[in-house]
Amino acid sequence: MEGAEIEKSDESWHDMFMKKEQSEPMNPSHIFCPNLACCARGQIGAGNIVIHDRQRQRSRCKACRKTFSANRGTMFEGLRKPTPLIVIVVTLLAYGCPVQAIVHVFGLDERTVSGQLA
Ligand SMILES: [Zn+2]
Repeated sequence: MEGAEIEKSDESWHDMFMKKEQSEPMNPSHIFCPNLACCARGQIGAGNIVIHDRQRQRSRCKACRKTFSANRGTMFEGLRKPTPLIVIVVTLLAYGCPVQAIVHVFGLDERTVSGQLA
């Protein structure tokens, strides 16, 4: 039952993973300013976004001088778990690792893990 469920969702994750691999994780020209009060908000490739802190994946807008997470607007937005863990979890799921095993090993909520397949 559960095995079949994971297999069915496998393909959609695979597509998502391939897309992510193709795109640069820290490419400021693909990020726009999320500051609602900023005149350069929503402009992609306008040159107003620079990398602020590569380690913490933060970008900065030259127009309003605000910094924000480079992950904004990506599939990882809103997830409180660190990105590498999400990648590990999703990889395990893609290889057919039972959700219960991942929940047990990483101490995650089962709905969080299942949500990675949605
Ligand atoms: Zn801005």
